[in-house]
Amino acid sequence: MGRAFLYVILGGGVAAGYAALEFTKRGISHGELCIISEEPVPPYERPALSKGFLLPEAPARLPSFHTCVGANEERLTPKWYKEHGIELVLGSRVKSVDVRRKTLLTGSGETISYKVLIIATGARALKLEEFGVKGSDSENVCYLRDLADANRLVNLMESCSGGNAVVIGGGYIGMECAASLVINRMSVTMVFPEEHCMARLFTPKIASFYEEFYKSKGVKFVKGTILSSFDIDSNGKVTAVNLRDGSSLPADTVVVGIGIRPNTSLFEGQLTLEKGGIKVNGKMQSSNSSVYAVGDVATFPVKVFGESRRLEHVDSARKSARHAVGAIMERNQAGEFDYLPFFYSRVFTLSWQFYGDNAGDVVHFGDFSGGTFGAYWVRNGHLVGSFLEGGTKEEYEAIAKATRLKPAVEDLAELERQGLGFAVTV
Ligand code: FAD
Ligand code: NDP
Repeated sequence: MGRAFLYVILGGGVAAGYAALEFTKRGISHGELCIISEEPVPPYERPALSKGFLLPEAPARLPSFHTCVGANEERLTPKWYKEHGIELVLGSRVKSVDVRRKTLLTGSGETISYKVLIIATGARALKLEEFGVKGSDSENVCYLRDLADANRLVNLMESCSGGNAVVIGGGYIGMECAASLVINRMSVTMVFPEEHCMARLFTPKIASFYEEFYKSKGVKFVKGTILSSFDIDSNGKVTAVNLRDGSSLPADTVVVGIGIRPNTSLFEGQLTLEKGGIKVNGKMQSSNSSVYAVGDVATFPVKVFGESRRLEHVDSARKSARHAVGAIMERNQAGEFDYLPFFYSRVFTLSWQFYGDNAGDVVHFGDFSGGTFGAYWVRNGHLVGSFLEGGTKEEYEAIAKATRLKPAVEDLAELERQGLGFAVTV
C-alpha cells in the first residue's frame, strides 16, 4: 500500500513551483497535493544556475532563488510547503507510471496514486556520447542542467582559475557559460558547428554584434566544426579537445551545451507524443484526461506559430503550469492557453528580449555599435516577432505588446526607418 493524493506533480523544477503556488492561490486543502522530484531541494529558478550562481563575487545560493522569485512572487521555501500542507517527496526518481491505474512507482519502491497528474519532468542535457564522442564522465567535463552540475562547474572554475576553458555549443548554455567563465578569469574558446552563435534565433547581423562583444572580452570562436575526441590523461582528466577540422585546443575545463531532450520516456506508449514532447491541448491536458503536461516537456498549441510546439524557456514553464492548474481547478471551464513566446538572456552587461516567432522577412533597427538595437520579423504582411537588446522596461513592454497585436506592416523600409518607434506607437 502507498499514499494517495488528489493532485500529484511529477518533477520539482520551475513549472512545479509555479503550479504549487497557483494551487494554493486557488485554494487546496492540506494533504491534497504532492510533488515528487529527483532533485534534493524544492523547486528553484533554474535560469540562476548559468547567471548569478556562477558569479565569483556574492554568488546567488539557495534558498535565495527558490521559485517563484523570478516572477516577483512569493519565495517557496521548505517551510512554505509545510505550512501549506504540500507533501514534498525529494531526492526520489519516479521509475514508472501507470496512467490507466493512476499510480507512480518511486525509486524507493513506494506507490503513489493520484486523481490528477501534472507532468513537469522538464528535460535532460544531451550527452556527447549521443554524438559518438567518449569522455563525458571525466572530472573536468561539465554539463549544466541542475544544482549538482552548477556546483561542479563552480568547483572546476575555482580549481583551474586562469586556465583554458573550452565551451562546446553556441546556444544558450554556451553563450551564458562562456560569459561566466570569462568573468571567472578563464581563457575561453567556444566551438560550435554553425556559422554564427545562437543560430536558431539570431540573424547573422545580431550574432555578429554578440560575437564581437565576446571577442572584446577575450573569447575565441572556432566555428563550423565539432569536437571529435578528447585527450584524457592517466588521472582521467581531459587535457585537450580535438576537433573534426584536425585542430586541437588545450583544456583545463570543458563545458558542454549541445541541446536537450524532454523527459518523456515514462509515458511512451501511454500518452500521445508529438515533436519530442507530450502532446497537450490548450488546457495543457494530454491524451489522457487525468494527465496534464507543462513546461519543457509539453507540446502545446501556440497561436503565433499556427501549430503546436515545445518551448524550452522559463516564462513558458511558469505560465503553462499556472494555466494547467487553472484548468484543473475550474474543471476545464478555463479558456485556451494563449501564449506569446518570450525568450531572454543576460550576459556581461548585455541584456536582450525576444517575443513571438522569428519567421518571415527580418528588418533590423537601431545602433549596432553598442547602443539599443533590435529586429522585427514580418510574415504575411504582419509583425510576428521582435527582438531588442539594451532596451528599457517600457521599451520591452512595447515590443511585447506590439508583437501580440500583430499589426499590419506594408512597407519594410518604412518599418526600418521607424525602428523602435514603430513598437512604441502601435
Ligand atoms: P525543469 O525546471 O527542468 O524541472 C524538471 C524537474 O523534473 C527536475 O527537478 C527533475 O529532476 C525532475 N524530474 C525529471 N524526471 C523525473 C523523474 N522521473 N522522477 C522525479 N523527478 C524527475 N530559460 C529562459 O527563458 N531564460 C533563461 O535565462 C534560462 N536560463 C537557463 C539556464 C540553465 C542553466 C538552464 C538549464 C535552463 C535555463 N532556461 C532558461 C530554461 C528553463 O530553465 C527551463 O525552460 C525550465 O526550467 C523548464 O521548467 P520545467 O519545470 O519544465 O523543467
Ligand atoms: P541549444 O539548443 O540552445 O544550443 C545547442 C547548441 O549546441 C547549438 O548551437 C547546436 O547546434 C550545438 N550543437 C549540437 N550538437 C553539437 C555537437 N555535437 N557539437 C557541438 N555543438 C553542437 O541548447 P543548450 O544546450 O545551449 O541549452 C539547453 C537548454 O537550456 C535549452 O532548453 C535552453 O533553452 C535552456 N537555456 C535557456 C537559456 C535562456 O533562455 N536564456 C539559458 C540557458 C539555457 P545546432 O543548432 O546545429 O544543433
